[in-house]
Amino acid sequence: MEITATVIGAGVVGLAVAAELSESRKGVLILERNPSFGQETSSRNSEVIHAGIYYAKGSLKARLCVEGNRMLYPLCESGRIPHRRCGKLIVATAPEEEAVLLDIQERARENGADDLKMVSAREVKDLEPNVKACAGLLSPSTGIIDSHRLMRRFAARVQRNGAQMVPHTTVSRVEKCDDGRYRVHVAYPDGEQDSFVSRWVVNCAGLESDRVAGSMGIDVDACGYRLHYWKGDYFSLDVPSGYLQRLVYPVPQANHVGLGVHATIDLGNRVKLGPDATYLPERNPDYAVNPAARQSFYEAARRYLPAITIDQLNPEMVGIRPKLQQPGDAVRDFIIAEESSKGLPGIVNLIGIESPGLTASPAIARYVANLIAAGE
Ligand SMILES: Cc1cc2nc3c(=O)[nH]c(=O)nc-3n(C[C@H](O)[C@H](O)[C@H](O)COP(=O)(O)OP(=O)(O)OC[C@H]3O[C@@H](n4cnc5c(N)ncnc54)[C@H](O)[C@@H]3O)c2cc1C
Repeated sequence: MEITATVIGAGVVGLAVAAELSESRKGVLILERNPSFGQETSSRNSEVIHAGIYYAKGSLKARLCVEGNRMLYPLCESGRIPHRRCGKLIVATAPEEEAVLLDIQERARENGADDLKMVSAREVKDLEPNVKACAGLLSPSTGIIDSHRLMRRFAARVQRNGAQMVPHTTVSRVEKCDDGRYRVHVAYPDGEQDSFVSRWVVNCAGLESDRVAGSMGIDVDACGYRLHYWKGDYFSLDVPSGYLQRLVYPVPQANHVGLGVHATIDLGNRVKLGPDATYLPERNPDYAVNPAARQSFYEAARRYLPAITIDQLNPEMVGIRPKLQQPGDAVRDFIIAEESSKGLPGIVNLIGIESPGLTASPAIARYVANLIAAGE
Protein backbone atom coordinates (compact mmCIF):
# COMPACT_ATOMS: atom_id res chain seq x y z
CA MET A 1 0.00 0.00 0.00
CA GLU A 2 1.30 3.47 -0.84
CA ILE A 3 1.40 5.63 2.27
CA THR A 4 -0.01 9.11 1.71
CA ALA A 5 -0.20 10.34 5.31
CA THR A 6 1.55 9.07 8.43
CA VAL A 7 0.24 10.21 11.80
CA ILE A 8 2.71 9.78 14.67
CA GLY A 9 1.01 9.05 17.99
CA ALA A 10 -2.37 7.50 18.79
CA GLY A 11 -3.60 9.76 21.56
CA VAL A 12 -6.96 11.47 21.14
CA VAL A 13 -5.46 14.06 18.79
CA GLY A 14 -3.62 11.60 16.51
CA LEU A 15 -6.70 9.37 16.36
CA ALA A 16 -8.97 12.31 15.51
CA VAL A 17 -6.53 13.47 12.82
CA ALA A 18 -6.19 9.98 11.30
CA ALA A 19 -9.98 9.54 11.32
CA GLU A 20 -10.46 12.88 9.57
CA LEU A 21 -7.68 12.39 6.98
CA SER A 22 -8.86 8.89 6.12
CA GLU A 23 -12.38 10.11 5.29
CA SER A 24 -11.17 11.30 1.90
CA ARG A 25 -7.76 9.65 1.43
CA LYS A 26 -6.37 6.19 1.01
CA GLY A 27 -3.06 5.15 2.56
CA VAL A 28 -3.35 6.74 6.02
CA LEU A 29 -1.24 5.14 8.73
CA ILE A 30 -1.16 5.89 12.46
CA LEU A 31 1.88 4.73 14.42
CA GLU A 32 1.91 4.29 18.20
CA ARG A 33 4.83 3.25 20.38
CA ASN A 34 2.62 1.71 23.10
CA PRO A 35 0.68 -1.57 22.81
CA SER A 36 -2.56 0.33 22.32
CA PHE A 37 -3.96 3.80 21.75
CA GLY A 38 -4.51 6.45 24.41
CA GLN A 39 -2.17 5.21 27.11
CA GLU A 40 -0.53 8.55 27.90
CA THR A 41 -1.96 12.05 28.44
CA SER A 42 -5.25 11.25 26.70
CA SER A 43 -6.17 8.85 29.51
CA ARG A 44 -4.70 10.97 32.31
CA ASN A 45 -6.81 14.09 32.33
CA SER A 46 -9.97 15.57 33.86
CA GLU A 47 -12.24 14.46 30.97
CA VAL A 48 -13.85 17.87 30.87
CA ILE A 49 -15.49 19.24 27.74
CA HIS A 50 -14.30 22.81 28.14
CA ALA A 51 -16.33 25.77 26.91
CA GLY A 52 -13.36 27.94 25.80
CA ILE A 53 -13.45 30.38 28.68
CA TYR A 54 -9.92 31.37 29.66
CA TYR A 55 -7.83 31.40 26.51
CA ALA A 56 -6.47 34.49 24.76
CA LYS A 57 -8.78 35.96 22.14
CA GLY A 58 -8.00 34.67 18.65
CA SER A 59 -5.62 31.96 19.93
CA LEU A 60 -5.82 28.44 18.55
CA LYS A 61 -6.69 27.27 22.05
CA ALA A 62 -9.73 29.58 22.14
CA ARG A 63 -10.91 28.94 18.59
CA LEU A 64 -10.41 25.19 18.56
CA CYS A 65 -11.84 24.73 22.05
CA VAL A 66 -15.07 26.58 21.25
CA GLU A 67 -15.34 24.75 17.92
CA GLY A 68 -14.44 21.40 19.54
CA ASN A 69 -17.06 21.92 22.26
CA ARG A 70 -19.72 22.47 19.58
CA MET A 71 -18.58 19.41 17.64
CA LEU A 72 -18.22 17.05 20.61
CA TYR A 73 -21.77 17.06 21.97
CA PRO A 74 -23.40 15.96 18.69
CA LEU A 75 -20.55 13.46 18.19
CA CYS A 76 -21.23 12.01 21.64
CA GLU A 77 -24.95 11.81 20.93
CA SER A 78 -24.64 10.16 17.51
CA GLY A 79 -21.80 7.88 18.65
CA ARG A 80 -23.34 6.91 21.99
CA ILE A 81 -20.28 8.18 23.84
CA PRO A 82 -21.06 8.58 27.55
CA HIS A 83 -21.03 12.27 28.47
CA ARG A 84 -22.97 14.81 30.50
CA ARG A 85 -23.50 18.52 29.94
CA CYS A 86 -23.30 19.07 33.71
CA GLY A 87 -22.05 22.66 33.67
CA LYS A 88 -19.35 24.32 35.71
CA LEU A 89 -19.23 26.95 38.44
CA ILE A 90 -16.21 29.19 38.82
CA VAL A 91 -16.37 30.51 42.36
CA ALA A 92 -15.08 33.64 44.06
CA THR A 93 -14.14 32.82 47.65
CA ALA A 94 -13.18 36.40 48.54
CA PRO A 95 -14.90 39.65 47.48
CA GLU A 96 -11.82 40.80 45.52
CA GLU A 97 -12.17 37.76 43.27
CA GLU A 98 -15.60 38.84 42.03
CA ALA A 99 -14.06 41.31 39.58
CA VAL A 100 -11.97 38.44 38.19
CA LEU A 101 -15.18 36.55 37.45
CA LEU A 102 -16.44 39.49 35.39
CA ASP A 103 -13.14 39.58 33.47
CA ILE A 104 -13.42 35.85 32.81
CA GLN A 105 -17.00 36.28 31.58
CA GLU A 106 -15.87 39.02 29.20
CA ARG A 107 -12.96 36.98 27.87
CA ALA A 108 -15.24 33.98 27.35
CA ARG A 109 -17.67 36.18 25.43
CA GLU A 110 -14.87 37.40 23.17
CA ASN A 111 -14.01 33.78 22.47
CA GLY A 112 -17.57 32.93 21.48
CA ALA A 113 -18.48 31.22 24.75
CA ASP A 114 -21.30 33.65 25.37
CA ASP A 115 -23.62 31.69 27.66
CA LEU A 116 -21.84 32.31 30.99
CA LYS A 117 -23.93 33.81 33.75
CA MET A 118 -22.96 35.52 37.01
CA VAL A 119 -24.69 34.02 40.04
CA SER A 120 -24.97 35.31 43.61
CA ALA A 121 -23.80 33.57 46.78
CA ARG A 122 -27.44 32.53 47.38
CA GLU A 123 -27.75 31.05 43.88
CA VAL A 124 -24.47 29.17 44.35
CA LYS A 125 -25.94 27.64 47.53
CA ASP A 126 -29.11 26.67 45.69
CA LEU A 127 -27.16 25.07 42.85
CA GLU A 128 -24.50 23.43 45.02
CA PRO A 129 -25.44 23.20 48.71
CA ASN A 130 -21.95 21.94 49.63
CA VAL A 131 -20.14 24.88 48.02
CA LYS A 132 -19.39 28.17 49.78
CA ALA A 133 -18.70 31.25 47.66
CA CYS A 134 -19.37 34.99 47.58
CA ALA A 135 -20.34 34.76 43.91
CA GLY A 136 -20.03 32.43 40.97
CA LEU A 137 -19.85 32.27 37.20
CA LEU A 138 -21.93 29.49 35.70
CA SER A 139 -20.89 27.87 32.42
CA PRO A 140 -23.76 25.70 31.14
CA SER A 141 -21.85 24.31 28.12
CA THR A 142 -19.04 22.75 30.11
CA GLY A 143 -19.43 19.00 30.46
CA ILE A 144 -17.73 15.68 31.04
CA ILE A 145 -16.95 12.85 28.65
CA ASP A 146 -15.68 9.29 28.68
CA SER A 147 -12.39 10.00 26.89
CA HIS A 148 -11.63 6.34 26.25
CA ARG A 149 -14.94 5.87 24.45
CA LEU A 150 -14.23 8.98 22.38
CA MET A 151 -10.88 7.51 21.36
CA ARG A 152 -12.51 4.17 20.59
CA ARG A 153 -14.93 6.02 18.35
CA PHE A 154 -12.10 7.73 16.44
CA ALA A 155 -10.20 4.41 16.24
CA ALA A 156 -13.29 2.69 14.82
CA ARG A 157 -13.58 5.43 12.17
CA VAL A 158 -9.91 4.95 11.30
CA GLN A 159 -10.51 1.25 10.79
CA ARG A 160 -13.78 1.70 8.90
CA ASN A 161 -12.08 4.13 6.51
CA GLY A 162 -9.44 1.51 5.68
CA ALA A 163 -6.61 3.30 7.49
CA GLN A 164 -4.25 1.30 9.62
CA MET A 165 -3.19 1.73 13.23
CA VAL A 166 0.14 0.10 14.03
CA PRO A 167 0.98 -0.26 17.74
CA HIS A 168 4.40 -1.17 19.23
CA THR A 169 6.03 1.13 16.67
CA THR A 170 8.27 4.02 17.69
CA VAL A 171 9.17 6.66 15.13
CA SER A 172 12.89 7.31 15.59
CA ARG A 173 13.53 9.75 12.75
CA VAL A 174 11.89 11.46 9.79
CA GLU A 175 14.13 12.22 6.84
CA LYS A 176 13.39 14.31 3.76
CA CYS A 177 13.80 12.42 0.45
CA ASP A 178 14.94 13.94 -2.84
CA ASP A 179 11.46 13.54 -4.35
CA GLY A 180 9.88 15.73 -1.63
CA ARG A 181 8.41 12.84 0.32
CA TYR A 182 9.62 11.69 3.76
CA ARG A 183 11.31 8.50 4.91
CA VAL A 184 9.88 7.53 8.29
CA HIS A 185 12.27 5.39 10.36
CA VAL A 186 10.67 3.15 12.97
CA ALA A 187 11.88 0.81 15.72
CA TYR A 188 10.06 -2.17 17.24
CA PRO A 189 10.28 -3.48 20.83
CA ASP A 190 12.51 -6.42 19.73
CA GLY A 191 15.14 -3.97 18.42
CA GLU A 192 14.25 -4.46 14.74
CA GLN A 193 14.15 -1.34 12.61
CA ASP A 194 12.40 -0.48 9.38
CA SER A 195 11.50 2.52 7.23
CA PHE A 196 8.97 3.56 4.60
CA VAL A 197 8.10 6.61 2.57
CA SER A 198 5.13 8.93 3.13
CA ARG A 199 3.93 12.08 1.35
CA TRP A 200 2.58 13.71 4.54
CA VAL A 201 3.76 13.29 8.12
CA VAL A 202 1.67 14.62 11.00
CA ASN A 203 3.44 14.74 14.34
CA CYS A 204 0.92 14.14 17.16
CA ALA A 205 3.46 12.63 19.56
CA GLY A 206 2.28 14.49 22.67
CA LEU A 207 5.02 14.58 25.31
CA GLU A 208 7.59 13.57 22.66
CA SER A 209 6.42 15.85 19.87
CA ASP A 210 9.34 18.28 20.20
CA ARG A 211 11.85 15.42 19.99
CA VAL A 212 10.08 14.03 16.94
CA ALA A 213 10.24 17.52 15.38
CA GLY A 214 13.95 17.62 16.25
CA SER A 215 14.43 14.31 14.42
CA MET A 216 13.14 16.05 11.26
CA GLY A 217 16.07 18.46 11.42
CA ILE A 218 14.12 21.30 13.03
CA ASP A 219 16.06 23.43 15.55
CA VAL A 220 13.64 22.94 18.42
CA ASP A 221 15.02 25.73 20.62
CA ALA A 222 15.32 28.31 17.85
CA CYS A 223 11.73 27.61 16.79
CA GLY A 224 10.33 27.71 20.33
CA TYR A 225 9.23 24.08 20.12
CA ARG A 226 10.97 22.84 23.32
CA LEU A 227 8.50 21.17 25.68
CA HIS A 228 8.48 21.38 29.45
CA TYR A 229 6.69 18.84 31.61
CA TRP A 230 4.26 20.00 34.27
CA LYS A 231 2.91 17.31 36.53
CA GLY A 232 -0.69 17.37 37.71
CA ASP A 233 -1.63 15.26 40.75
CA TYR A 234 -5.23 14.29 41.49
CA PHE A 235 -6.79 13.20 44.77
CA SER A 236 -10.19 11.53 44.94
CA LEU A 237 -12.62 12.97 47.47
CA ASP A 238 -14.51 10.42 49.49
CA VAL A 239 -17.99 11.99 49.53
CA PRO A 240 -21.46 10.55 48.90
CA SER A 241 -22.63 10.30 45.28
CA GLY A 242 -24.36 13.53 44.28
CA TYR A 243 -22.23 15.69 46.61
CA LEU A 244 -21.64 17.95 43.60
CA GLN A 245 -23.85 18.28 40.52
CA ARG A 246 -21.38 20.21 38.43
CA LEU A 247 -17.67 21.02 38.20
CA VAL A 248 -16.43 23.62 40.67
CA TYR A 249 -13.35 25.71 39.92
CA PRO A 250 -11.65 28.48 41.89
CA VAL A 251 -10.55 31.58 39.96
CA PRO A 252 -7.51 30.50 37.91
CA GLN A 253 -3.88 30.87 38.93
CA ALA A 254 -1.86 33.76 37.58
CA ASN A 255 -0.29 32.98 34.19
CA HIS A 256 -2.68 30.04 33.68
CA VAL A 257 -0.10 27.38 34.52
CA GLY A 258 -3.10 25.48 35.78
CA LEU A 259 -6.70 26.27 36.58
CA GLY A 260 -6.22 25.89 40.35
CA VAL A 261 -7.20 22.82 42.38
CA HIS A 262 -10.74 22.26 41.17
CA ALA A 263 -13.38 19.66 41.88
CA THR A 264 -14.50 17.57 38.95
CA ILE A 265 -17.15 14.88 38.87
CA ASP A 266 -16.91 11.84 36.66
CA LEU A 267 -19.68 9.94 34.92
CA GLY A 268 -19.94 7.66 37.95
CA ASN A 269 -20.50 10.76 40.15
CA ARG A 270 -17.15 10.41 41.93
CA VAL A 271 -15.47 13.68 42.89
CA LYS A 272 -11.80 14.29 42.09
CA LEU A 273 -9.67 17.23 43.19
CA GLY A 274 -6.91 18.50 40.97
CA PRO A 275 -4.79 18.78 39.05
CA ASP A 276 -2.13 20.98 40.62
CA ALA A 277 0.83 22.06 38.47
CA THR A 278 4.41 21.09 39.35
CA TYR A 279 7.25 21.79 36.93
CA LEU A 280 9.43 18.72 36.28
CA PRO A 281 12.89 20.10 35.41
CA GLU A 282 14.26 16.61 34.65
CA ARG A 283 11.43 15.95 32.22
CA ASN A 284 10.85 12.45 33.54
CA PRO A 285 7.28 11.28 33.18
CA ASP A 286 6.67 10.70 36.90
CA TYR A 287 3.22 9.17 37.28
CA ALA A 288 3.37 8.65 41.07
CA VAL A 289 1.03 10.87 43.08
CA ASN A 290 2.95 13.07 45.50
CA PRO A 291 1.37 12.17 48.87
CA ALA A 292 2.79 15.37 50.40
CA ALA A 293 0.47 17.38 48.14
CA ARG A 294 -2.54 16.20 50.16
CA GLN A 295 -2.31 19.05 52.66
CA SER A 296 -2.16 21.79 50.01
CA PHE A 297 -5.02 20.16 48.07
CA TYR A 298 -7.09 20.09 51.22
CA GLU A 299 -6.36 23.72 51.99
CA ALA A 300 -7.14 24.83 48.44
CA ALA A 301 -10.39 22.83 48.20
CA ARG A 302 -11.80 23.65 51.61
CA ARG A 303 -11.95 27.32 50.63
CA TYR A 304 -15.01 26.41 48.54
CA LEU A 305 -15.89 22.99 50.04
CA PRO A 306 -15.76 23.98 53.74
CA ALA A 307 -17.18 20.72 55.14
CA ILE A 308 -14.51 18.35 53.81
CA THR A 309 -11.84 16.82 56.04
CA ILE A 310 -8.31 15.87 55.03
CA ASP A 311 -9.02 12.13 55.59
CA GLN A 312 -11.47 12.24 52.69
CA LEU A 313 -8.62 12.87 50.21
CA ASN A 314 -6.96 9.83 48.65
CA PRO A 315 -4.20 9.77 45.99
CA GLU A 316 -5.83 9.10 42.60
CA MET A 317 -3.67 9.65 39.51
CA VAL A 318 -1.23 11.89 37.67
CA GLY A 319 -1.25 13.50 34.25
CA ILE A 320 1.63 15.36 32.65
CA ARG A 321 1.13 18.51 30.60
CA PRO A 322 3.35 19.02 27.55
CA LYS A 323 3.77 22.77 27.98
CA LEU A 324 5.71 25.20 25.84
CA GLN A 325 6.27 27.44 28.83
CA GLN A 326 8.71 27.18 31.72
CA PRO A 327 8.05 28.71 35.14
CA GLY A 328 7.76 32.48 34.77
CA ASP A 329 7.15 32.44 31.01
CA ALA A 330 4.06 33.90 29.39
CA VAL A 331 1.24 31.56 28.37
CA ARG A 332 1.85 29.88 25.01
CA ASP A 333 -0.66 28.80 22.40
CA PHE A 334 -0.86 25.41 20.67
CA ILE A 335 1.59 25.07 17.79
CA ILE A 336 -0.05 23.49 14.73
CA ALA A 337 2.30 24.22 11.85
CA GLU A 338 2.66 23.07 8.27
CA GLU A 339 6.41 23.37 7.88
CA SER A 340 6.90 24.61 4.28
CA SER A 341 8.53 27.76 5.68
CA LYS A 342 11.22 25.57 7.26
CA GLY A 343 11.86 23.77 3.96
CA LEU A 344 9.73 20.81 5.03
CA PRO A 345 6.50 20.94 2.98
CA GLY A 346 4.28 18.03 3.89
CA ILE A 347 5.23 17.99 7.58
CA VAL A 348 2.64 19.14 10.11
CA ASN A 349 3.84 19.52 13.69
CA LEU A 350 1.48 19.69 16.66
CA ILE A 351 3.42 20.79 19.74
CA GLY A 352 2.25 21.81 23.20
CA ILE A 353 -1.20 20.25 22.86
CA GLU A 354 -2.07 20.54 26.53
CA SER A 355 -5.55 21.39 27.82
CA PRO A 356 -8.02 21.88 26.10
CA GLY A 357 -6.64 19.32 23.63
CA LEU A 358 -9.23 16.67 24.45
CA THR A 359 -12.12 19.07 23.87
CA ALA A 360 -10.48 20.56 20.81
CA SER A 361 -9.53 17.19 19.24
CA PRO A 362 -12.23 17.08 16.52
CA ALA A 363 -11.60 20.73 15.64
CA ILE A 364 -7.81 20.19 15.59
CA ALA A 365 -8.37 17.28 13.20
CA ARG A 366 -10.38 19.48 10.85
CA TYR A 367 -7.74 22.23 11.09
CA VAL A 368 -4.96 19.78 10.18
CA ALA A 369 -7.02 18.31 7.32
CA ASN A 370 -7.49 21.84 5.93
CA LEU A 371 -3.73 22.52 6.14
CA ILE A 372 -3.08 19.34 4.21
CA ALA A 373 -5.82 19.95 1.66
CA ALA A 374 -4.34 23.40 0.99
CA GLY A 375 -0.98 21.82 0.16
CA GLU A 376 -2.25 18.95 -1.98
C1 LIG B 1 -3.56 16.81 34.03
C2 LIG B 1 -4.24 17.08 32.72
C3 LIG B 1 -5.59 17.39 32.68
C4 LIG B 1 -6.22 17.66 31.48
N1 LIG B 1 -7.56 17.87 31.46
C5 LIG B 1 -8.19 18.12 30.28
C6 LIG B 1 -9.58 18.30 30.23
O1 LIG B 1 -10.28 18.14 31.22
N2 LIG B 1 -10.14 18.63 29.04
C7 LIG B 1 -9.42 18.79 27.92
O2 LIG B 1 -9.97 19.16 26.90
N3 LIG B 1 -8.09 18.56 27.92
C8 LIG B 1 -7.46 18.20 29.07
N4 LIG B 1 -6.13 17.95 29.09
C9 LIG B 1 -5.39 17.97 27.84
C10 LIG B 1 -5.57 16.70 27.04
O3 LIG B 1 -5.50 15.57 27.87
C11 LIG B 1 -4.46 16.64 25.97
O4 LIG B 1 -4.45 17.85 25.26
C12 LIG B 1 -4.68 15.51 24.99
O5 LIG B 1 -4.89 14.29 25.64
C13 LIG B 1 -3.45 15.42 24.10
O6 LIG B 1 -3.63 14.35 23.22
P1 LIG B 1 -2.46 13.94 22.26
O7 LIG B 1 -3.00 12.91 21.35
O8 LIG B 1 -1.85 15.17 21.66
O9 LIG B 1 -1.31 13.38 23.22
P2 LIG B 1 -1.12 11.96 23.92
O10 LIG B 1 -2.34 11.45 24.51
O11 LIG B 1 0.08 12.13 24.80
O12 LIG B 1 -0.74 11.01 22.72
C14 LIG B 1 0.51 11.06 22.10
C15 LIG B 1 0.84 9.66 21.66
O13 LIG B 1 2.05 9.68 20.92
C16 LIG B 1 2.76 8.49 21.21
N5 LIG B 1 4.16 8.70 20.84
C17 LIG B 1 5.04 9.56 21.41
N6 LIG B 1 6.24 9.49 20.77
C18 LIG B 1 6.10 8.58 19.79
C19 LIG B 1 6.98 8.08 18.80
N7 LIG B 1 8.25 8.52 18.70
N8 LIG B 1 6.53 7.12 17.96
C20 LIG B 1 5.24 6.65 18.06
N9 LIG B 1 4.37 7.10 18.99
C21 LIG B 1 4.79 8.06 19.83
C22 LIG B 1 2.54 8.32 22.70
O14 LIG B 1 2.79 7.01 23.10
C23 LIG B 1 1.09 8.74 22.86
O15 LIG B 1 0.20 7.65 22.78
C24 LIG B 1 -5.47 17.65 30.28
C25 LIG B 1 -4.12 17.32 30.32
C26 LIG B 1 -3.51 17.03 31.52
C27 LIG B 1 -2.07 16.64 31.55
